[in-house]
Amino acid sequence: MTKTRHLTILGSTGSIGESTLDVVARHPGLYQVVALTADRNVEKMFEQCIQFHPPYAVMLDAQSAEQLEDRLHAAGLDTRVLSGIESLEKVASLPEIDTVMAAIVGAAGIRPTLAAARTGKHILLANKETLVMAGRVFMDTLRQHHATLLPIDSEHNAIFQSLPQHFNGDLAGSGVRRILLTASGGPFRTVDLKMLETVTPEQACAHPNWVMGRKISVDSATMMNKGLEVIEAHWLFNAEPEKIQVVIHPQSVIHSMVEYIDGSVLAQLGNPDMRTPIAHALSYPERMESGVQSLDMFKVARLDFESPDFKRFPCLRLAYEALAAGGNMPAVLNAANEVAVEVFLAGRIPFTAIPVMIEDVMKSTERRDVPDLEGVLLADLQARATAREWLACNIRQSTGQPGKPASSLSAGQ
Ligand code: NAD
Ligand code: MG
Repeated sequence: MTKTRHLTILGSTGSIGESTLDVVARHPGLYQVVALTADRNVEKMFEQCIQFHPPYAVMLDAQSAEQLEDRLHAAGLDTRVLSGIESLEKVASLPEIDTVMAAIVGAAGIRPTLAAARTGKHILLANKETLVMAGRVFMDTLRQHHATLLPIDSEHNAIFQSLPQHFNGDLAGSGVRRILLTASGGPFRTVDLKMLETVTPEQACAHPNWVMGRKISVDSATMMNKGLEVIEAHWLFNAEPEKIQVVIHPQSVIHSMVEYIDGSVLAQLGNPDMRTPIAHALSYPERMESGVQSLDMFKVARLDFESPDFKRFPCLRLAYEALAAGGNMPAVLNAANEVAVEVFLAGRIPFTAIPVMIEDVMKSTERRDVPDLEGVLLADLQARATAREWLACNIRQSTGQPGKPASSLSAGQ
């Protein structure tokens, strides 16, 4: 690679953001970091600015931005510190950048990621929620503005690597029979179903193979993460739901597979370390060092596979249902899930209430088409409001006891 790439990293203080900077730091001269963004972690952002000297840093609110600015100026750096959602959109679409790593967690990532698409950037997409909420709008915007997209999610990056080069969105025409989307099954794959009622946020976040942010860790424990990834795969690879088979593979060594009509199955394997897909996407179509250790096949020794259990993992079923319904329903699923995960992490609902809440919110929402970003954002807002109403109805406020639902948690509105 000869030309220096100019990067904005959205969500640089998170798990994906830090892994991205780790890869970038291994290749001085190949990448120039132009903008970094975070929500409120001033300390980590300060350290990143000291190391990478970006011309721009964006914090979520004015107070954090002010604190960061004071510290940077005291340290003699002239980084421009901005705040707010418009500033995130601005740094995702600066004329001096060519590449955007979209690694904000949740629905908050959608507007800056779309701004990058509207300005024809090369987008490295970790923020799967953008595709889940606004798959059609996002893919149309990419095409319209000649933006390009490479998946960072390890499964989708593996599928991309296993598809023919220059794949044009025609699976059948490329001889593909189906996509095999692997899932670890998370920390609760084998625990007694009764025990799920009492699991703690710490247990849910203790993923057996991957170290990730807390939201995606809970999503992995409920397997909503895999559900969101089915929707993500649908949009990325133009794959109908019945062509996407989820395969539980507890070792997380095979990151996903593509089966062809001649019976060949191509897979991408590697240690579970996000620096591999990040380095792949950063250097594509070339390859570069990522810092990831060689895969020790003798240590891995065996690879296991199981079919997913919808009874244990109702969130996976709900995601398939949202994809089949289309329109606003994937955005509703995503918003209800974000609220449910947040209140579970805060100790306000039990783990088993997460799918109940999402299903009730979906059932009480009318299906509608969402032709544009405004429609998507409205669906997101309304679903969050419905989710909060659900909470108000179902959590016993008077006892002040966290995680104690008032009813059997089956009542919808
Ligand atoms: P994280 O929680 O570790 O980091 C999230 C980043 O987003 C942080 O920099 C945070 O400051 C920023 N952020 C959070 N809320 C924000 C808001 N409201 N406005 C602006 N910035 C905000 O999350 P993560 O694990 O790095 O995941 C990031 C994205 O990548 C998610 O969409 C996740 O699904 C996806 N992803 C992560 C992994 C992984 O291994 N961590 C793997 C595949 C996909
Ligand atoms: Mg993944």
